[in-house]
Order: sequence, then structure tokens, then C-alpha cells
Amino acid sequence: MAQARIEGHVLRTPLVESLALSQGGPAIFLKLETRQTTGAFKLRGATNAVLMAGSSAKGFVTASTGNHGRAVAHAAKAQRRRAVVCMSNLVPANKVDAVRALGPEVHIVGQSQDDAQIEVSRLVREEGLSEIPPFDHPAVIAGQGTIGLEIVEAMPDVALVLVPLSGGGLAAGVAAAVKGLRPQAKVVGVSMTRGPAMQRSLLAGRPVAVEEVPTLADSLGGGIGLDNGFTFAMCRDLLDGVILLSEEEIAEGIRHAFRAEDEVVEGAGAVGIAALIAGKIRPEGPTALILSGRNIDPALHRRIVEEGALA
Ligand SMILES: *Cc1c(COP(=O)(O)O)cnc(C)c1O
Repeated sequence: MAQARIEGHVLRTPLVESLALSQGGPAIFLKLETRQTTGAFKLRGATNAVLMAGSSAKGFVTASTGNHGRAVAHAAKAQRRRAVVCMSNLVPANKVDAVRALGPEVHIVGQSQDDAQIEVSRLVREEGLSEIPPFDHPAVIAGQGTIGLEIVEAMPDVALVLVPLSGGGLAAGVAAAVKGLRPQAKVVGVSMTRGPAMQRSLLAGRPVAVEEVPTLADSLGGGIGLDNGFTFAMCRDLLDGVILLSEEEIAEGIRHAFRAEDEVVEGAGAVGIAALIAGKIRPEGPTALILSGRNIDPALHRRIVEEGALA
């Protein structure tokens, strides 16, 4: 089981009540994946995938330069395994440096994410490395799902869980875990209005492409894969709904997290708080919000919380 496998390799993060958000209503708890090693929950899925692959794997490769890339680099290094992160020449130097600091090999190729992905496929084919996809993989989904198990263990009466939603690895894993233990609990995904790939796909009844546009919730950008094998069907069957948020609503979530909860949260991690503050959902019982990550550009964070700017 994923939970036993990754125990001791990732943090069991705090689940704390938000006194500000609980005022006058049901108790609202925050699952602080902001405190997870590497600054986001993705270490859970990456660690589970690395440990499941066992010692026969020759090493691991990904094209992500964001939270998933960091997670794969850290998880592989912790097991003294080879990790390669592939990225294009267009990735900004500060992002390249942040990945390099975690110690993986970095392959810089081509001019686009597609070119980086071609290098991933080459390394899989020619050097026998194992690709760890960011969401659409059973080991990754199960690893992210350990958050759901920890929530129900600490809140046996949980009625609602709000989950940031992009490719759906987090939402699928958490929904399966929560509903496995507590079928009556509701699990709702939260995305941004600007490019909500899973929500559009759920409406269409099949995976569809969406145009990728800049958003404060940058970790929620990107598609779900037209050949999606797992997360689309799981989100379709297990989620009780999807909420969409404007950029100003997400900024409000980041501000609240900082001012009222003392947490630096990136846009993607603030969407649960933002959905509550915007009144887009009214909890009817004990509720858990997953603050999924903290990796936001410090200058952007300062502008949002100090100057009240949108971006
Ligand atoms: C990746 C990520 C998400 C979304 O996870 P999916 O499994 O792709 O839905 C949410 N928040 C943060 C901080 C992330 O890095």
C-alpha cells in the first residue's frame, strides 16, 4: 500500500483548523502540503513511483520543470537513483537553476515542451530510464491519495474535501481514498476559469485540449492528455463537482492564506480557500481544504499580499 511504502520518506503534513474560516459555520481544516519537502504534495506520488519501480529500474526521467520535476529529482536522489529532467531552451534560467539545485541531470533540448518530451522518450528507449508522468499513472495517483487517507484518519466525520484540480492525479487519488473510507463524504475539484482542462473534458465526456493561458494558479495549467488512461475516468466517476475561479478570486485566496493563516501559498494551493471566500460552495459539515503547494515567485507573492495587485 502506498501509505506504508512512502511513510518515513515524505512528511505527514499538519492538518490545522482555520479559526478565521470556521467562524459562524462548520469547522474548516487546512491540510498543509505547503510544508511538504520540496514545497508541494507531488513528492508523495513521485516517491511512491520510485519505490515501486524497485532496484531494477535504471533511473527516472520527466519533462516537468515545476513541482513534479522537483519531486522526481528529490525522490530519486533520496534513493540514490539516477534522475534526468528534460527541458527546452525556452525555460527561464532561474527555473533551470532551481531544478539543478536538487541534483538531477538536466538535459536542455529544443525550443518547446514537445521537444523536451521527445528527449524523455529517447532516454526511455535508448537508456532504459523509467518515465514518471505528473498525474496519469497508478503509482502517482496512489501516492497523492495518501493525503485523503490522512484527512479521514484525522477527521473521521469529514463531510467535504476541496481539492485543487489540474491533470487530476491529486483529485483522483484523494477522492478514491476518502470515498473508500467514508462514502458519504463529498470531494469537489477546484480549478481556474483560465484553461480548466479537466472541467472541460468532464463536460465534453472525453479528454479535450484547452488553450493554455497564463494564470496565477500556474501549477494547474496544461492539458490532461488526449490519451488519458486513468485520471479522467476516476474524476468523472468520483468527483461531486468542479468549481471554477477568476484570477481575482485566486489572489484573494493567496492574501487570506498569508494574512489570516500565516501561510505562503502558491495560486494552485489557494483555490480551496478562494472557493470558500468567494461563496462558490457552502460547507454543511466538517471540511478539509488541501493547500497543495507553496512554490510561488516571491516578488509576485509580495505584490499580491502587500499591494493588493492581481499579478
Ligand atoms: C500539480 C499540482 C496541482 C494539481 O495536481 P493534479 O494531479 O495535476 O491535478 C495542484 N497544486 C499544486 C501546487 C501542484 O503542483
